Amino acid sequence: KANNYLWVLCRGLAVQDEMGEPDRMAGSLTDITLRKLFEEQLSHQALHDSLTSLPNRALFLDRLKQALKQSKRNENHHFAILFMDLDRFKVINDGLGHVTGDTLLSAFAEKLSNSLRDADTMSRWEGTVARFGGDEFVLLLDNINDVSDATTVAERIQEMLKEPFLIDGNEVFTSVSIGIAMSEQDYESAEEFVRNADTAMYRAKARGKACFQIFDADMHERAMSRLQTESDMRRALERGSEFLVHYQPIVSLETGRIHSFEALVRWDHPDRGMVSPVDFISIAEETGLIVPIGEFVFREACRQTKSWQSRVPGLSDLNVSINLSPRQFSDTNLLGMIESALSESGLEPEHVKIEITESAIMESVDFVMKTMNRLRSMGVNLAIDDFGTGYSSLSYLHRFPMNQIKIDEAFVRNMHSSRENMQIIKTILLLGQSLEMEVIAEGIETEEQFEVLRACSCEFGQGYYFAKPMDPEEAVVRLMSQTTWSKTVDV
Ligand code: C2E
Ligand code: MG
Ligand code: MG
Repeated sequence: KANNYLWVLCRGLAVQDEMGEPDRMAGSLTDITLRKLFEEQLSHQALHDSLTSLPNRALFLDRLKQALKQSKRNENHHFAILFMDLDRFKVINDGLGHVTGDTLLSAFAEKLSNSLRDADTMSRWEGTVARFGGDEFVLLLDNINDVSDATTVAERIQEMLKEPFLIDGNEVFTSVSIGIAMSEQDYESAEEFVRNADTAMYRAKARGKACFQIFDADMHERAMSRLQTESDMRRALERGSEFLVHYQPIVSLETGRIHSFEALVRWDHPDRGMVSPVDFISIAEETGLIVPIGEFVFREACRQTKSWQSRVPGLSDLNVSINLSPRQFSDTNLLGMIESALSESGLEPEHVKIEITESAIMESVDFVMKTMNRLRSMGVNLAIDDFGTGYSSLSYLHRFPMNQIKIDEAFVRNMHSSRENMQIIKTILLLGQSLEMEVIAEGIETEEQFEVLRACSCEFGQGYYFAKPMDPEEAVVRLMSQTTWSKTVDV
């Protein structure tokens, strides 16, 4: 064919004359163009992502290694990587379907590549985008001047996402969290470099999504201490004696009596002493260790409550509230675990209340809703924890199969300093009434807060004013002595 190159395989053999001297060549030319194309395709597939056609992790790491080598030779050679993760992609994927999710990923990849191409012509750096899998994209900015080049690009990417994607006639908005790692640090390996950018990305997410974060040494320290916490948690789970359950009374504001307990996990660390759940629950969630830890808490709280019900006179109706974290909801064995914890302890399901934070529900409404409905049909009660901080819209709330709303402690703490907070508390109380959900005020610390809430007919309260979370020995003393907090007796 005219104007076409072909790949040929050339094979030749020297043919000898009668004297045994090489005389001429005989051979063949084979057209192997198709085979070559096929090979190219294969090697492209091995190094590119099939959905977006972007370079994949392997190819990216290869480029990164080259950049690292160059910067070792020439200290004026700077580069950065931007680790990007789409925010709330799971919600889009679950809510609008995987096909839409895939289309969004491709559209994002294309927009990103185009914007780099435009910028490339104006700047001296070169950009390479890769998809690492899922909703993770990584960008190598080679030959930059300094960190400001990287932050400018990060800002531009976020700016670009303010426009929605049009997918099957729907406007879909997304944002990215970006972690930036710079070549100035002394890196041993490309993998370590990527890990730091990933760590910075997690910080950006934790700061509230749609922002970027530059990796620094402190972050490395924190990442190391997280790793340490993770391995300590694994060891603690194996040993089985470091995790404990403490109990905080939930008080009926009308009678001042203990109505139930909230089970709160404690970690008695051999070197660090009592570690607060605030310092390990999020790591346990990220690593999935919350599943075995949560199972331990659930079983232990059921066992303990049943034993109080049968040992302490007059307490056969004692209830217990147990926290579940979002990660536990995606565990396929959750319902089975709860069923077996109930049957093994002999605790009736109606004496258990499961607390889920409002923000956890809002992360993935439809998904969590399914599990919540199944829990309700098992006879277990549900509470929405830290209410008022998770931005759930009222249109959702009445669809939640909840029995109880827990007003977040922030509103209670500030109820005297701002009228707004008092107004919010009153609104939640009204809401509870009209949706037939009980309301608990969390974080009651003063007598004044107690009295005001009682005057507003808030049914239940919990907080340091009554008692801090306590070990089971102290809890049973409180139960036996029938501690009562009511100061003024209503007639
Ligand atoms: P939460 O479920 O909202 O629990 C209430 C937290 O507020 C407890 O903190 C409790 O000690 C604290 N608190 C109670 N009264 C007061 C008060 O008057 N003032 C103040 N400032 N704080 C008060 P804790 O035990 O440190 O637990 C923190 C969070 O960790 C819990 O918030 C819950 O979200 C999580 N958590 C605790 N145990 C578990 C568990 O077993 N599983 C899961 N998934 N999460 C847990
Ligand atoms: Mg709670
Ligand atoms: Mg709470």
